[in-house]
Amino acid sequence: MNNWQDYVRRVIPYTPGDQPNKPNMIKLNTNENPYPPAPGVAKVIKNMDAGKLRLYPDPKIKGLIEELANAYGLDNDQIFVGVGSDDVLSLIFLTFFNSDKPILFPDITYSFYPVWADVYGVSYERPKLDDNFMIVKEDYYKENGGIILANPNAPTSIYESLDIIEDILIHNRDSIVVIDEAYIDFGGESAVKLINKYDNLLVVQTFSKSRSMAGMRIGYVMANKKLIKYIDDVKHSINSYTLNYASILAGIESVKDKEYFENSNKKIINTRKKTEKFLTEYGFTFPKSSANFIFAKHEKFKAVDIFGALKASDIYVRYFNHDRIDNYLRITIGTDEEMEELRFFLKKYLNR
Ligand code: PMP
Repeated sequence: MNNWQDYVRRVIPYTPGDQPNKPNMIKLNTNENPYPPAPGVAKVIKNMDAGKLRLYPDPKIKGLIEELANAYGLDNDQIFVGVGSDDVLSLIFLTFFNSDKPILFPDITYSFYPVWADVYGVSYERPKLDDNFMIVKEDYYKENGGIILANPNAPTSIYESLDIIEDILIHNRDSIVVIDEAYIDFGGESAVKLINKYDNLLVVQTFSKSRSMAGMRIGYVMANKKLIKYIDDVKHSINSYTLNYASILAGIESVKDKEYFENSNKKIINTRKKTEKFLTEYGFTFPKSSANFIFAKHEKFKAVDIFGALKASDIYVRYFNHDRIDNYLRITIGTDEEMEELRFFLKKYLNR
């Protein structure tokens, strides 16, 4: 072995869901939105002046930040935008989770959190969710180097009330508390209304789910301006130009079209209701979903078997071979037609 081998930063990377590309597949495995982004997005991309690509994009992402600030009633300096919320979360880990004490996040949550903790050398503890996959708030009263919670949580789809979030904030005035709201527009009330009350709170959101723009990679965090400045300083110590020119233009158009955004979220919620109904009829149980996916298990059939059978029919859902959740399927809400195909398949499969 060469000497340099001893000095490699070895990590076990995050495993994203499969991205198969089959013509007639039904893709319900990565929580993408089945509807296109707001019409203004297609228009601005089509009419984009490609000549502008020779220039670096605006490092301050001013146009998009102004639009978001306007939408959330915040000041421009209370928002930081990055390349998807994964980028934003990674920068938050690097900026704030820098103490000797372990950071805290639940045993069942977004599986990228331990990966960032490992790559940045942050120690962590994972308090167990209760048997209904709910947070036990007292587990977060102990000393810690920071807290991160996805709300609604992934892959459980469960939303914890703002009372729980606020209780955890009150017990952690000396820690940074991050709420990852990737799925907030499908159900819950955002913690963003607490950022002026708690100067240790960061609320992260994304364009990948409710704004149908996973391919554009836009995420953002809202907090008081001091916290935003710390993230901005770290970001500008790594790479000043992150969000590309096309993404900035498209992001602005998406935020401008409030009506399209609200309608498209309503459609998903409606389809979720119909899906819950047939899943229940077919013997599945699941926690109440506040997200664009359902986390379901069957009373008789093993999740891994259903997963395999679905895949063989080009219907993709997500299966996690992890402790406590290895008999569940995470099923993204697609269009009514796609869910109808899923229903048809399950009906046949479960009645064999
Ligand atoms: N947080 C949670 C809880 C997620 O499920 C995801 C999607 N994988 C993300 C953050 C990251 O999303 P993106 O980087 O596309 O904004």
